[in-house]
Order: sequence, then structure tokens, then C-alpha cells
Amino acid sequence: MDVTSILDQLNVAQQEAVTSDRRSVLVLAGAGSGKTRVLVHRIAWKIQVDSISPYAILAVTFTNKSSREMRERIDQLLGMSLRGMWVGTFHGLAHRLLKAHWREAGLRENFQILDSDDQLRLVKRLMKTLDLDEARWPPRQAQWWINNQKDEGLRAAHIQETGDLQLTTMLRIYREYEANCAQLGVIDFAELLLRALDLWRQYADILDHYQARFKHILVDEFQDTNAVQYAWLRLLAGNKCQVTAVGDDDQSIYGWRGAKVENILSYERDFEATHVIRLEQNYRSTSNILCAANAVIEKNSERLGKKLWTEAGEGEPIALYAAFNEHDEARYIADRLHQWVSEGQRRDAAAILYRSNAQSRVLEAALLQADIPYRIYGGQRFYERLEIKNALAYLRVMLNVNDDTAFERVVNIPPRGIGERTIDAIRQHARQSETSLWAASEAIVSSQSMAGRARNALASFLQLINKMSQGLESTTLIEQAETAIQQSGLIELYRREKGERGRARIENLEELVAACSNFQAEVSDEPALPQFLDQVALDAGDRQAGEDQDAVQLMTLHSAKGLEFPLVFIAGVEENLFPHKMSLDEPGRLEEERRLAYVGITRAMQKLYLTFAECRTIYGSESYNSISRFVRDIPSEVIEEVRIHNTVARPTSYAKSTMHSDTGEATGFGLGQQIRHPIYGEGVILNFEGIGPRARVHVQFEQVGIKILILASAKLTAA
Ligand code: ATP
Ligand code: MG
Repeated sequence: MDVTSILDQLNVAQQEAVTSDRRSVLVLAGAGSGKTRVLVHRIAWKIQVDSISPYAILAVTFTNKSSREMRERIDQLLGMSLRGMWVGTFHGLAHRLLKAHWREAGLRENFQILDSDDQLRLVKRLMKTLDLDEARWPPRQAQWWINNQKDEGLRAAHIQETGDLQLTTMLRIYREYEANCAQLGVIDFAELLLRALDLWRQYADILDHYQARFKHILVDEFQDTNAVQYAWLRLLAGNKCQVTAVGDDDQSIYGWRGAKVENILSYERDFEATHVIRLEQNYRSTSNILCAANAVIEKNSERLGKKLWTEAGEGEPIALYAAFNEHDEARYIADRLHQWVSEGQRRDAAAILYRSNAQSRVLEAALLQADIPYRIYGGQRFYERLEIKNALAYLRVMLNVNDDTAFERVVNIPPRGIGERTIDAIRQHARQSETSLWAASEAIVSSQSMAGRARNALASFLQLINKMSQGLESTTLIEQAETAIQQSGLIELYRREKGERGRARIENLEELVAACSNFQAEVSDEPALPQFLDQVALDAGDRQAGEDQDAVQLMTLHSAKGLEFPLVFIAGVEENLFPHKMSLDEPGRLEEERRLAYVGITRAMQKLYLTFAECRTIYGSESYNSISRFVRDIPSEVIEEVRIHNTVARPTSYAKSTMHSDTGEATGFGLGQQIRHPIYGEGVILNFEGIGPRARVHVQFEQVGIKILILASAKLTAA
């Protein structure tokens, strides 16, 4: 193959980064300047020109999806499929290591990954045994605290007591949590990293092996590495390996999760003879979009400082839409998308970004109504669903009856008369005899220490699981999945759950069997079940939805990092929402919000829409927020207001107490309904306000915009 094709598609600075021979390379550059592209081409260069074996290369990406993409792009460039190269997220790579060295890592061979839900459930359970009041010590906070310590590399034993009650309490929970995870043979996300680091710290021979193997380490999105990940890299790199890191301090958006942008600064100090390369040309966006991004990020004080330019033309202006409320906003976005598709564009070339997850519901509803397929990227659309989690828990118990988290989840689903009291008794027995819940249940059943009915119910559950897991070695993953949904009684349970919901749940369970069948076709070595469960847990951590249908992408601004789309909407650019209200009092966090705005804007290639709602219901109450400061920082020359919000007929006397987020029941009309007015013509109902004879309705008319009318006298008819 002609090596010039690796360099052809790069500018001079990118070529320098790709071909550098120095021990360490740091590419520090703004969004869309080709950092990820440099990594891909550098790997291809190493293999093709320097004849490095793929086996000696380790590449770290930020999501599992980007790992797959990176592999595909290298394959394309080289015209062959690579084997032996390690490409993955820090979590994925750590998992792989621990699977290979579970014994040394102090784990069981079939250790399970605890996802965030399971972790919370475990923390709750432990807090109960410690007699801690959930109202005073919210379990979520304890969970967050524990994860933070782990991200910093701190185990309970490393943390000093200070006499502070908060700290003492958190530490108690942390200790109990550590002991329980060890006993259950489970490991959470943060622990994957920490445990992998400890493995290398404790076993010089294992570290030697990997240091000898990996001659090249390459890391994308370096600005968002945390303390443990950084330590892990340094240790692995040792003093021979070549390291390439690419990142952008302006896109550091995971400080709240322990990421340390300072790692960029430490890098030059810790990794010898660093070749620092800056890329300044942006290849992604039009100059209008770039101008907006530069203007927003310029307001931050702590920057390493760089400015992007582009050869692309101005492109279209950035559209700013002032919506009346969130329904109007969502409907507007759906309209634009409809138009985009009718112009022959692909749906997956468009993305809707938002600051908080809760915003997606209304957007989803509008897309559903407009019949526009969408996918929530990172939204756990499938594996997060209740019925799927239940079925997976059955599979986990079938694989390992001592998997306590899974045991707890399914012991009484479908309801089989094993009540909270019985479960408490099992827990207590397990604690006293230091065994799993399964072993405790067996002991209880055989000792006859429990009242007849409860004991019988428990005994038949044990029997059921024994039967379900019989002959596991000789069945296929598909058959196992069938067993998990049929014999468990789950399908029957959801069949009884009438209507659309029950039907959807059954379809989901059937889809799970389909997923198992796809997976079975892909794996080469048996048994497939533990591999499948691991993959699901890792994918859930990554929050992927992986269907192939052409669909609009919905995601939080955080999950949009590294991605690009021709058409981007950022919804809800309002003070208190974005920047998030929690960031307003802390300068550091406000700067992080600003970087998030920069990340959002720079995802757009051709067209960017910013939308905000003058009135929005957040967590059940109406709020009126002004337009986001980030929008105000964008030069007006590059913005086009789709509708100046002052022209919206806006009632001046909204007293919150009289606002009623009535659904329109009993009025004969519903939200989003198409109606006709004798004078204003056709329109869509956006909101109802108040009840009784004074009830008013907000309508978006096609011809005259939004009007607020008294329902009783408006003479509306269904269109
Ligand atoms: P981010 O900071 O958002 O992760 P990035 O710096 O990693 O961005 P890439 O995603 O690598 O940027 O590149 C942005 C876009 O520009 C991609 O579509 C990429 O293919 C294209 N690109 C990068 N360099 C060049 C080049 N030299 N010639 C043409 N296109 C390029
Ligand atoms: Mg990138």
C-alpha cells in the first residue's frame, strides 16, 4: 500500500503529529481540528511505515462506540482488518485486564459488573443495615461520594477520620460497601480502574509483561482523564513506551466526575521530551458556527488559549428560536427536522442536544407525534428497561446463584409470595453466617426455621432457579434467554399487564432473545452467557443504543463530545437550565458549563439552531427564565432570530398560583391537538391555563402566531 495516502489527507501540523518520533507527543487543539483523525492516521502510520505490530498498540477512546469507529477507520485506511490491537475505553481495557488476571486482582473468575442502578440498590441496602436514615443521608449522595473517592484512587482505608460526622458516616458506608462487594464478587465502574491499577502496582511481573508488549499508547479526549486513569497510563508507559495524547482543555466537561484538566499540564512534566503540537484549522464547521464557538469560550479565564479558523465559507446564520414553552420548542424542532428530511437529508445527520436528561421527554413526544424516528444516544433505551433488567438478572442468577444483587431483584418477580419480611430474614441469615443470599435461603429452607407458607414459597423459588440453570453448559445462549423469560414467568407477568405497556414489554423481551442470537453468532468461544452479560454491562455504562435505522439522534451535551452532525439543535438555552442553576454560584462550575456550550456549538457542521422557551415546566413547576448568557455572548451578526420573542402575545399577569398545567381534560381538546378558529384559522394547542369558565388555551396559529384565548368563547373546533 502507498503510504502517501496516510499523509495525503492531512495538513502539515497533522502530518508532524502523525510522523513524530519523539517519546511523547501531545496534540493540544480545539474542536474539529482533526485530533481524533491524527490518532487514527498515527496508528496506521506506525503499522504501515514503522512496521509496528498491531499487537504492540493500545488506544484509548472515550466511549465504546468511538472505539468501534476508530477500529473501522484504521481498517479502512490500511485496507485490512487488524487483529491483536487493544482499542477501548479505560473501563473496557481495565475489564479486559481483570478478566485475564482475576485471581491476582482478588476477584472471582466470573465477577459481575455492578451498574449504577445496582450500585445504588446495594448502597441503600447497606445503609439500612447500618440503621442510617435515608432522609438525612441520601443514598445517591453516598454512592456519588464513594465513586468520587475511587476516582481519586482512594479506598476507605486511605481516608483519615477527622471527627466530622458527615465524613465518618460516609466512611462507614464505604467500608461496608467494600466488604460487601468483595463478598458478593461484584465490582463497580470506578473499581474496574482502581483494581486494574492496583494489579500493576502489586504484581511487577504482570506490569512487566504489558510494558514489554505495548510499545505505543494513544489516548483521545485526554482532557477528561481522571487521577486513576492518569496514574494507570504513567505506570503502563514506564520509560520505554511511546505515548500520544490528544485533547482540548476547552472541552474538559467531566470535572464533576473527577476528570482533571491539569493532567494536560502534568503530561509535559511527567512524560519525557514531549513534542507539543497545536492544530488550529477547523475542518468541521462553517465560519459562522466557529465564530459563535470562539466568542463563547473566550469568556473563560483559565485557558491554555487557542483560536480556531476555517477555510469553509460563512454558511448559514445560526438560528435562534424563542419558543413560547417547551412544547412549542419541541414542535418547532420537529418541524425543522421534517423539512430537513423532506429535502432528502438523512435523519442521522441531525442531532438534538440538551443540558438535562429530563428535557428529552417532551422532545420525544413531539418527534413521535411528527412520526420522526429518533434514537436516544446514551439514554439506555433498551437495557435500562425494567423488563430487560429483570430478564438479565435471571440470566445472572442462572449463571451464578450467589449473585446477590440479581437474586434480590428477581426473588419476588413475578410476585410469588416472598415478602419483605422473608427477604429481611434471608439477609440477616446471610450476614450472620457470611454467605450469599442463595446459601442463606437454602439453609433457611432446610432448617425449617421459617413459617410454612413463606418457606414453601422460598423453596419453590430455589427449585425453579435450579431447574432453569440445569444443563447450562449444553444449551445455547438463545435457549438460555428463552428460559430466562419463559420459565421465570416474566412473559406471563407482562402478558397480564394489559394494553400497550405490557405488549411493549413482551416485545422487548423478545428483542432480548434476538440480541442474544446476534451475540451468539459473533462470539467464537463458549460459554457465551458470561461474555454477553459483561458486554451488556459495559454497554450500559457507555449508554449506547445501537440500532441501524436512520434516526435523529437525541443526547445530552455531555454525550455529544467527539461527535459531529451536519444539523444540530441545542434546546433549552436558558439561564438556570443552561448554564445549569447549580453552577451559577461557583465560578469553576460556570466555566465548565461554558466549555459544555463550546462542545455543543462545535458539534455542528452546517447548521445550528439554538432554541429556548420563555416558559417551561421543570420538575412540575412553571418557570420563566431569560435567555442563556452563552447566547448573549454570540455576536449578533451571526445570529438570525427566527421570531423575536417580544412579538409573542404574552400575558403580563401570570401569577404562578393561577397557572395550572391542566392537561385539557374535560375541555374536549388535548395538548398538541390541531384545531381551527373562525378568524385565525388552523393552529396547534400548546397549553391550557386555569380551569372552569375562565380557562384559557394557548394556540400556535399558522398565520398569526401564538394567541391566548378564553376557551369558553373561542369557538374552537377540531381541525
Ligand atoms: P473534537 O475536539 O470535537 O473531538 P477533533 O479535533 O477530534 O474534534 P476530528 O473529529 O478528528 O476533530 O475532525 C473533525 C472533522 O474534520 C472530521 O470530519 C475529520 O474527518 C475532518 N478533518 C480533519 N482533518 C482534516 C484534513 N486535514 N482534511 C480534511 N478533513 C479533515
Ligand atoms: Mg475528537
